[in-house]
Amino acid sequence: MSITARLLGSAVSRWGEDPWARGSWSLIGRHGTPQDRVALGTPVGERLRIAGEATHPTRAGMTHGAYEKGVEAAGWAADLGHSRVAVVGAGMAGLGAARTLAERGVQVRIFEARDRIGGRTAGADVAGGAFDLGANWLQQYDENVLARLAERLGLTMVPTDFGDPLVLTGEPFPDGIEDDLRDRLSRAAPESGIADVLDDWLRDPAPWTAAEIHRFVDAEIVMDAGAPLSWLSARHGFEPGVGEGDRWIVGGYRRLTGHLADGLDIRLGHPVRDIRVEAGRVVLNGDVSADAVIVTAPLPVLAGGGITFDPPLPPAHRDALGRLGAGRVEKVILRFDQRFWPEHGYYRVHGPERTSISEWLDATAADGTPTLVGLFAGHWLGTLWTGTDAEIADRATGIIRAAAARRG
Ligand SMILES: Cc1cc2nc3c(=O)[nH]c(=O)nc-3n(C[C@H](O)[C@H](O)[C@H](O)COP(=O)(O)OP(=O)(O)OC[C@H]3O[C@@H](n4cnc5c(N)ncnc54)[C@H](O)[C@@H]3O)c2cc1C
Repeated sequence: MSITARLLGSAVSRWGEDPWARGSWSLIGRHGTPQDRVALGTPVGERLRIAGEATHPTRAGMTHGAYEKGVEAAGWAADLGHSRVAVVGAGMAGLGAARTLAERGVQVRIFEARDRIGGRTAGADVAGGAFDLGANWLQQYDENVLARLAERLGLTMVPTDFGDPLVLTGEPFPDGIEDDLRDRLSRAAPESGIADVLDDWLRDPAPWTAAEIHRFVDAEIVMDAGAPLSWLSARHGFEPGVGEGDRWIVGGYRRLTGHLADGLDIRLGHPVRDIRVEAGRVVLNGDVSADAVIVTAPLPVLAGGGITFDPPLPPAHRDALGRLGAGRVEKVILRFDQRFWPEHGYYRVHGPERTSISEWLDATAADGTPTLVGLFAGHWLGTLWTGTDAEIADRATGIIRAAAARRG
């Protein structure tokens, strides 16, 4: 197979350092439970409610979970009879909330910090095609409300079989290892981290080898969470998500967000820094008044004090913010003038170091131009994701070229 393919264009995500994301998606830390997600999304009186993916107890970290929580918060505000509602953030939760409010005749304005909508769904135009640097798949496809919307809009979607990735370097996993991991996690002591379970497992690894266990945990948990295993809850940190039947959208998530935003009053470039709840109204940034506010800023933005609340959030909300957190998974889009990797759809690459792992989606189906979308997580982001976008793309290209060449 040719390895002289020329790179036509690339794009690189920066979720870890993005001030309006500060990570990729929310996770449950060792002292937390899904109940913390419920607590965070519980209304604060009758004028303030936090929504967004982090508040969904069973669909966290996913676009449809975010959207559902936005719709739910909108129902809460409308049922209370509020006629002017402010929404903070124009991601899936904010768009879902605002659209629902508008449909119920409520006057709604979205205040969005960035100069674009979509939040952690973010499109990039690369060498004539549009691809996703944030959310890629419609997950839990059969029960995904956004998948139904995509179908109604007639969008072209391509399924990915996550159950059968082509392992370009490294060995496939032995049968039974996943059941063993899940069983160990379910039996873990309360408030233990995944690293505790791993340490215990490695003391008596049979019938697996230590290398197999490391590889499996890297692929299944590090890639899925992008957070330190010592921090991540053993009992609750491995949440439902990626599965067979997930589909990605040709043209990217912007096909959905553009539709959802249509006709809404969205103020781009308007970060909300403080929210004051007064008798009879809420005041944003000292000068915007509304009957109620729905806040969909990502969890690390809230936990990091990106928005000041007056009065402060109640203890249950603050505790939840402390027990939840976010990981870091980054993406690269690479487009080439010819394919140098085998046709399969989804790939896993182990190496070059033991702790380095990447997964790759073949997105060539979008328009026929050979395209890879690489996902990276784990310690090596500290060195891999440095320098310019071009330098990062170059390193990523080197990794997939070497893996494809070794595969032959
Ligand atoms: C690399 C990556 C891959 C992913 N892959 C998938 C996937 O395949 N499938 C899937 O379902 N999910 C995936 N996700 C997760 C998914 O993108 C999120 O769960 C979802 O988009 C979150 O929506 P949200 O509305 O809760 O938050 P966001 O989309 O983050 O929206 C919040 C909005 O608030 C704005 N904001 C923040 N602070 C302020 C402020 N102070 N004032 C005003 N505005 C503010 C932000 O700019 C943002 O627009 C992925 C995420 C990443 C990063």
